[in-house]
Amino acid sequence: MITIESLKNAIRTVPDFPQPGIQFKDLTTMLKQPDLLKYVVSTTARYYQQKGITKIVGIESRGFIIGGALAAELEAGFVPVRKPNRLPAEVYRKSYALEYGENTIEIHRDALNPDDVVLLHDDLLATGGTALAAIDLIRQFHVREIHINFIVELDWLKGRDKLTPSYDIYTLVHF
Ligand code: AMP
Repeated sequence: MITIESLKNAIRTVPDFPQPGIQFKDLTTMLKQPDLLKYVVSTTARYYQQKGITKIVGIESRGFIIGGALAAELEAGFVPVRKPNRLPAEVYRKSYALEYGENTIEIHRDALNPDDVVLLHDDLLATGGTALAAIDLIRQFHVREIHINFIVELDWLKGRDKLTPSYDIYTLVHF
């Protein structure tokens, strides 16, 4: 039987990647196992089944993997949030501070509309800076609701505190 513990055990921790001091959670060791991949997608989709999600917004690039599968499973559309200068048409852009330096993300200006119920998805919540910037982008469309989902959350970084109490956040695996 697959449990949250089996997912946790299948995720590889790589020390000092991509820089010293970071304990990188590598989900590829979980995603390559068909039964675990199916469990992640179906368990997450079940949680959102009755919520009327119309669009999954996935964050480049690891948010595209499960994000796309969730969109198909929930019969919703998929919208990419991408790194700068990758989207070909007109975009909204948001820059945000990282521990060192700055990052920028973009979304197409015609990606969402006010009728949408959005599920923002990324593979992992660390400090919450990326998700918060993506929410800022989504809010420009005045959508009906925003839900938030991660596969993994690093609880000790308290990224959730940046996003709550305004949003319902669902995470499968907590470290
Ligand atoms: P943050 O903005 O700090 O919440 O960082 C979230 C983004 O960075 C996600 O897109 C993750 O894929 C990536 N990330 C940050 N920290 C880690 C980590 N320790 N292991 C794996 N991915 C990480």
